[in-house]
Amino acid sequence: MEALQDLDVSRHLETLYQIYEDIDREYQSAAEFYQFSCEGCEENCCSTVFYHHTLIEYFAVLDGFDELPEDIKQEALDKARDYIKELNKYRGKEEQLKIFCPLNFDGLCKIYKHRPLICRIHGLPGYFKHPTKGIQQFSGCKRFEKLKNQSRERLIDRTMFYTKIATLESQLRRDMNYVIRFQKTIAEMINDRILL
Ligand code: SF4
Repeated sequence: MEALQDLDVSRHLETLYQIYEDIDREYQSAAEFYQFSCEGCEENCCSTVFYHHTLIEYFAVLDGFDELPEDIKQEALDKARDYIKELNKYRGKEEQLKIFCPLNFDGLCKIYKHRPLICRIHGLPGYFKHPTKGIQQFSGCKRFEKLKNQSRERLIDRTMFYTKIATLESQLRRDMNYVIRFQKTIAEMINDRILL
């Protein structure tokens, strides 16, 4: 496998950022339909533990992280180490852990343009047509459930986005000759930055 720091993934990232723009458009349209906004939310989904499973999104997070000022990077890395220590106590029962993502500063995402798919789309209900497992439904975030527990008229179809990202991921993995399963939180991703 080629060393990660020697890889030029900019072409793949460009494609990913176009997919992200499409997702944002679709999300915005659904948010307008429901008149839904994250503003002032106390259930902040940035304090939910999410694992991310694609290398391409890992590189996007690192791309965003690299653009941050040095002092913010250092603070985020310190927070990431504390996060991982805490997470290690909750492996296998992550849903019980409420802890802020180390890239959330005062309620704002420091890598907003580079944030992964799940951070973009989690809030509103949707579905994914899995090629073998059938339809998977997503209910939206806790705030949406509280505010809109009657209405599910505008579901975001995640199928095209997942498929495009999966295709991109396959291309990237082929180019890298990378076959290992990937599963990391944002904290674990940025903590890797000191190694790469
Ligand atoms: S990457 Fe950004 S949006 Fe995603 S959990 Fe972290 S702070 Fe929140």
